[in-house]
Amino acid sequence: MTAKIRVLEKSVSEKIAAGEVVENPASVVKELLENSIDAGATSIAIEIENGGKTLIRVTDNGEGIDREDVRTAFRRHATSKISNIEDLDRIVSLGFRGEALASIAAVSMVRMVTKPRNSLEGTVYEMHGGQEVMFEEVGCPGGTSIEVKELFYNTPARKEYLRSSSHEGSLISDIITRLALARTGISFRLTNNGKMVINTPGNGELRDTIVSIYGREIGENLVKVSCSREGIGIDGFVSKPHITRSNRGYQSIFVNGRYIKNRMVTQAIEDSYRTMLMVNRYPVAVLNIVLDPCLVDVNVHPAKLQVRFKDENLVKGAIYDCIKTCMEKGRWISSVASFGRPAGGQARQDVTIKSWSDNNITKEKIQPEHGNNCLKEERVEYNRIELDNIIKDNDNNIPELRIVGQLLNTYIAAEGDGCVYLIDQHAAHERVMYEMMTLQFENNGINSQRLLDPIVIELSHYEAEIIKENLEVIRKTGFELEEFGVNSIAVRSVPVFFGIPETKEFINDLITEYTTGNRRKGYRLKSEEVIGMACKKAVKANQRLSMQEMEGLIAQLRKAKMPYTCPHGRPVIITLSKYELEKMFKRVQ
Ligand code: ADP
Ligand code: MG
Repeated sequence: MTAKIRVLEKSVSEKIAAGEVVENPASVVKELLENSIDAGATSIAIEIENGGKTLIRVTDNGEGIDREDVRTAFRRHATSKISNIEDLDRIVSLGFRGEALASIAAVSMVRMVTKPRNSLEGTVYEMHGGQEVMFEEVGCPGGTSIEVKELFYNTPARKEYLRSSSHEGSLISDIITRLALARTGISFRLTNNGKMVINTPGNGELRDTIVSIYGREIGENLVKVSCSREGIGIDGFVSKPHITRSNRGYQSIFVNGRYIKNRMVTQAIEDSYRTMLMVNRYPVAVLNIVLDPCLVDVNVHPAKLQVRFKDENLVKGAIYDCIKTCMEKGRWISSVASFGRPAGGQARQDVTIKSWSDNNITKEKIQPEHGNNCLKEERVEYNRIELDNIIKDNDNNIPELRIVGQLLNTYIAAEGDGCVYLIDQHAAHERVMYEMMTLQFENNGINSQRLLDPIVIELSHYEAEIIKENLEVIRKTGFELEEFGVNSIAVRSVPVFFGIPETKEFINDLITEYTTGNRRKGYRLKSEEVIGMACKKAVKANQRLSMQEMEGLIAQLRKAKMPYTCPHGRPVIITLSKYELEKMFKRVQ
């Protein structure tokens, strides 16, 4: 039999991004798991002690290693996965550098027990600090078990850099989580100091794998994503908009099954949820991006975490479109009953939705009224906002509603399809205005009106400078500002629905946004952020609405692309089913 594992020619090994693969116990686990996966294992057990610092044992049921290949496997640049430079461009296996076993064996005590499935005898091989101490025949099951003890025992300086056992252990469970999500056909079991921490079913079902790792609550609130755009496939699950986390730790992105980190991809995901999430909240996402291996370079980072896409915009566009379409199709109305749960509501998607005859829109257009600073009016005329000409018909998602009345000057009470609905009138109005402004912005520009008397706002020198720098972005959103003397600005025009009292406050809010919080100095707000702020300001609190105004508002809302949240991610509409009501009144059990 010819040897399967060969040492790469120098000319090939030199082309592979160089770097130390063994940094900490987690990187050892990662390399060993990738080898098990490449070996076709369907079941992998990982045992660690003290965060992997004293023991890591990975046991798989993969193809095993022939005795004659065992020693070679531990040589530097020895691999069975590629042999020439051309192979580098179409890598499908996870490993290909032929460095891991050699690097791990150099800095620990390694013992490998391995047997190809159909060999009679297996091999046990041991190395201490890169030196062979045992090479023997042994009876063992098919597959490979590698034990790595006392990592960095012979390189005390590196050992010192290891963090606490719990920290190192959490890095390991993180790595296993990503791999388990990428390889749903493999069962992964992690035990830490004898305690089972991860146990995935390995049944090929991503949803089941997600549930086994993140629990039921997330599992029940996932939206399946499965689509392809221009040869790029996007598959996986993202969370419904109300299931979010305070960091991006629950996002796992894979490219052709390989876990990667990529700022552009994360951004595309978050953009596709734009205006549906509260500040500093992040969706859960497990997505595999499938594309021709030629269109992605995985050989740019020693741990193979970073990838470079040949056409970033194509990938970005595909992710954005796919998730956004799913979001716009869904019906994300939280049920009142779900608010008792720790992580918020549960969306309903199971109701048959009747089509809604549209006869409530008032097509009256606001004419700029010159001469009287027409915006003094305190009440916002909801039904005057002209949305219907520009927003595409999208009215299957909010059911036909019969408005019952207004509660606390803040909520619209309605019923439809056997449920009670409560609508936050301000959040709804904000959403309607936001979509209208955004559409105008994207089409012909935002309708603004010139004020007869400009509003002059005095600022500090610093504030005035910030505003001056951003005049253009602000102007595009319907606010025409001019320098006025040294440290003042004059507001000449505002969007048609905007009022004078809020203009000053709006400018102050803008300055705060530009100068504080997470924003670094000199940060430029995007137009959509300015629009979001303007809408928020334009909405008035506590106001009585007539029946006609409420109907107008709901009609507008039904035309919005994303009617379920205000542009800042707060819910617009919640529901209470008849059954939930009956339960509360003890009419049913
Ligand atoms: P690479 O994975 O980059 O090829 P490694 O040093 O990680 O390099 O492994 C060297 C070789 O050892 C692999 O190419 C593979 O043939 C063999 N090998 C390592 N681990 C396993 C395993 N768990 N099962 C079967 N073969 C393995
Ligand atoms: Mg490897």
